[in-house]
Amino acid sequence: MTRRALVVSQPGVIGILERPTLAPGPEEVVVRPAYCGLCGTDLELRQGDVDPAFVTYPLTLGHEWSGTVEAVGDGVRHVTPGDRCVAECIVPCGQCENCLEGQTNTCEVYDELGFTREGGASDQVVVPARLVHRLADGVGLLDAALVEPSSVVFRGLEKAAPRPGGRVVVIGDGTIALLAAHLIGLWSPREVVLVGRRAEQEELALAVGATHFTTDDAEASNADLAIEAVGATVAIETAIRATRRGGTVVLLGLPPTGQTVELPADLLVNNDLTLAASFGYTSAAWARVVDLLSAGKIAPGRLVTHRFPLERFEDAFAVLAAPSGTRGKVLLDIAEEATN
Ligand SMILES: [Zn+2]
Ligand SMILES: [Zn+2]
Repeated sequence: MTRRALVVSQPGVIGILERPTLAPGPEEVVVRPAYCGLCGTDLELRQGDVDPAFVTYPLTLGHEWSGTVEAVGDGVRHVTPGDRCVAECIVPCGQCENCLEGQTNTCEVYDELGFTREGGASDQVVVPARLVHRLADGVGLLDAALVEPSSVVFRGLEKAAPRPGGRVVVIGDGTIALLAAHLIGLWSPREVVLVGRRAEQEELALAVGATHFTTDDAEASNADLAIEAVGATVAIETAIRATRRGGTVVLLGLPPTGQTVELPADLLVNNDLTLAASFGYTSAAWARVVDLLSAGKIAPGRLVTHRFPLERFEDAFAVLAAPSGTRGKVLLDIAEEATN
């Protein structure tokens, strides 16, 4: 028996391969993914642009997915076959100092599905049971496919500790920026300004929670909280300059390996800025996002603009790489029953 898997065999070489089917070991769960999101990082993984310390080829892609439990190994009690679920893709060791303090995103042993282990762009994926979260009955798998990027954003926002009633400026117009505009609503801001490059993102930005969209960098100003969601050094500078005295800057985007940024050093001190940067998500942030989704407090599925069957992965990557056109989240439909 085989299953399909979207594999980057080596940088630049990608295709759907037949792989042996999976069976769960003790304390493991095998999930049948319904949807698998693709993001800019997948493009970089495909091209070989990710820091080699964080990737092992050949690589089955997929670090943003939702699905249904197919089989559970010995000792697994909290989920059973048929349960709809999501799973944290960062696999923390649970033993190191960072893990014990709850900072599972900076575990001393980096290990992540879709980077160093097989990911969810496949008919099956195997995950340690402790990372699997069952979804409440009313939660759609489409919304759930965005738990991963939502957790990345949520963790950064928590670290920035936004105060209610603030003016929030988001730099960027991609999925992370749009999710930031959506999730910051949990902290009741007065205004949420999205400063983007692509005018065609305006409608989507306003639909998910931004109060204003602009392509004019001059409007990036007077922010109580500035959120950098591009992953470009120039955007980091824009975010810092956009922040009012006493305000906070949070960096969510990951710039290309090895780049340095020039900071207006006097501004940082004179303006009494707080600077936060956030990597990935903690287990606690992930659990919180699942709770918020279950409670109907967030609806990240609104960001989905494109869906392709797994076989059409090239079309999905083409949309991701396109310089223009409205684009929110791009998903691969994996299971035939992926209808909700
Ligand atoms: Zn991603
Ligand atoms: Zn650890």
